Amino acid sequence: MRLATRAWCVSSASALYASRARPRLARTMATWVDADEAATVQANVQAVRERVNKISETATLIAVSKLKPLSHVKAAFDAGQRDFGENYVQELAEKAEAAKDVEGLRWHFIGSLQSNKVRQLCQVPQLACVHTVERAKIANSLDRVWGELGNVEPLMCFLQVNTSGEETKGGCAPDAAPELAKAIHAKPHLNLIGLMCIGKYSGAEGDASPDFNVLRSCRDAAAAELGVSADTLALSMGMSHDFEQALGLGATHVRVGSTIFGARPAKK
Ligand SMILES: *Cc1c(COP(=O)(O)O)cnc(C)c1O
Repeated sequence: MRLATRAWCVSSASALYASRARPRLARTMATWVDADEAATVQANVQAVRERVNKISETATLIAVSKLKPLSHVKAAFDAGQRDFGENYVQELAEKAEAAKDVEGLRWHFIGSLQSNKVRQLCQVPQLACVHTVERAKIANSLDRVWGELGNVEPLMCFLQVNTSGEETKGGCAPDAAPELAKAIHAKPHLNLIGLMCIGKYSGAEGDASPDFNVLRSCRDAAAAELGVSADTLALSMGMSHDFEQALGLGATHVRVGSTIFGARPAKK
């Protein structure tokens, strides 16, 4: 395996971040963690992987590395983790550029996506999947830009559904999911692989099963609309506090951050 530190471009990346007038990112991304911290990340990712495997042998574990340094990503990669999630296009672009020669690394975009960031997102090296397609306009521009960039394989996407109805959460209304799924499915440069939600109790203790059940019904309705069987559509649901519950309810992709990488700095 090519695990040379050089493949991670850590030193040039650090220099890059240090030169920006973005103290928060510079602080979180430029620090090279010590051996103890890397060992902790590795133990955590293995422990979460085991917990996932106990419930599902096939689910994809996405390690959410937002606001964490690239060295954490490397530590988890060295422990066998391949799928990583990021929420902010700029941060993802910088990390992916620094790690672009790391074979087998896959990036998942899981943050809210504005039209003016679509091109930058589509140019991210080793972008595997976008989990947060929530309206036709974003689907249209992802499809157009992904095609313009000359990609042969369509971009894998999830349709995000706002299962809790909270204004602060992204996603389409559950009622709108089948029609939007159909629209995304029809795009030549997009490959709709499933539906995604952020539960009401994301990041906190609480019963997330109502959200997960709403997402399952949306998935069933979308599958009916597309004329495919429900199990051909994936479910991206479950985070640190509730990924086991999500897996029990059929999650195929779980997105786990703080349980692997530790608490994040508070949001602005
Ligand atoms: C941050 C984030 C996660 C991971 O959250 P944790 O509670 O730290 O596991 C998962 N999904 C999305 C969409 C996120 O924004």
